[in-house]
Amino acid sequence: MTEALFQFIWQYSLYKVTDLTTSAGEPLTVIQAGKINKDAGPDFLEARIKIGNTILVGNIELHIRTSDWLRHGHQNDAAYHNLILHVVYEHDMENVVANTPVLVLKDNIPLHVLAHYADLMTAKDKLPCAGQHQKVRSITKEGWMSRLLAERWEQKLSHWNVMLENSAEDWRNLLYWRMAANFGFKTNAAPFLLLARSIPLNVLGRHRENLHQIEALLFGQAGMLNASFMDQYPETLQDEYNYLRKKYKLSPIPVHLWKFLRMRPANFPTVRIAQFAMLIHQSEHLFSQILETHSVKEIEPLLDVTASEYWHTHFRFDEAQAQTAPKSLGKSSVQNIIINTIAPIQFLFASRQGVDNLREQSLNLLEAVPAEKNNITETWSRNDWVPANAAQSQALIQLYNNYCTARRCLECTVGLNIIRSAN
Ligand code: SF4
Repeated sequence: MTEALFQFIWQYSLYKVTDLTTSAGEPLTVIQAGKINKDAGPDFLEARIKIGNTILVGNIELHIRTSDWLRHGHQNDAAYHNLILHVVYEHDMENVVANTPVLVLKDNIPLHVLAHYADLMTAKDKLPCAGQHQKVRSITKEGWMSRLLAERWEQKLSHWNVMLENSAEDWRNLLYWRMAANFGFKTNAAPFLLLARSIPLNVLGRHRENLHQIEALLFGQAGMLNASFMDQYPETLQDEYNYLRKKYKLSPIPVHLWKFLRMRPANFPTVRIAQFAMLIHQSEHLFSQILETHSVKEIEPLLDVTASEYWHTHFRFDEAQAQTAPKSLGKSSVQNIIINTIAPIQFLFASRQGVDNLREQSLNLLEAVPAEKNNITETWSRNDWVPANAAQSQALIQLYNNYCTARRCLECTVGLNIIRSAN
């Protein structure tokens, strides 16, 4: 027995609730277990119980053993005075808390509760509850996924809120930074964000109509033009960058930050930077377009970008390929950007403006995108929990990364349903 499991058992009434008596033999009924308290003070607040004919309302403290009260030093803490009940798993000491009845639960907890919990905590499977999802109703899973998605966005957007405040509430800047980070995808998100932060958006805006200058600024600031080249294209970028760099007093980021290893060439940061340059070149009023657009069909053309001609035959400078292949962003990359940048930024904007229907639209947008395919969603799918869309795949990624790997099964709706199931 652990304190966390004991609190869980109390919170969800996973013990035999009939015929309870206090350690002094008085009949006891739990009317309300109380609200769990994660802060200092008693474990459950505003509980309601009946002892004999008297109804008591107040706080309850739980311990594995009665003597833990003294071990935790509660006798010296005024926050623990005036409890209505001391609930213990084992009663190992009499008269510990003055004037407070004791309820002992050891013999009231069904063995299956302890067994299911032990199974979850000791399972070797990547997903400790594998094979048990049939114990959870579909509607329960759907409600839990909605809460997980909200939690994921809350974590992500609190960071974006700070970025927004640091940029004097400039939404175009936030979109520019987040879009850049997204173009780096998982591996190069950090250097891409640094790159965007090293070039003020208004500098790019001034040169938006000249693709060559946008490329020079981006490749130059990425630290990728600080070399000798054989091809004419990077040489002309270099000349352009040297001029613009002086003009705007820019400093490039270190080139060693970019990662090429173990990547498909189509995802090389060189290709992504060229595509990002094209996006800036092609987009006027991108932020307002993105805010006003709520269907995947309308968003896809906004992100339909192909790197400039040199990249049809290159993945890196000076390394020509025999085959010509235009380097477009690709459908799955566009979907990734909708999931990770566009839907969340629409949601954040709607939340800050207090516009409920826009918030709803950003969630609908996510539901219109197919579920992501990665190791995590494949693990769920193998276990008969197949995400129906990107809103659900995002929720399952949150569940896996934040709950399953840390075995937070006691805080998970799936865990609750498995632990309390009788079979
Ligand atoms: S946290 Fe929930 S979903 Fe994850 S292993 Fe535990 S019970 Fe299963």
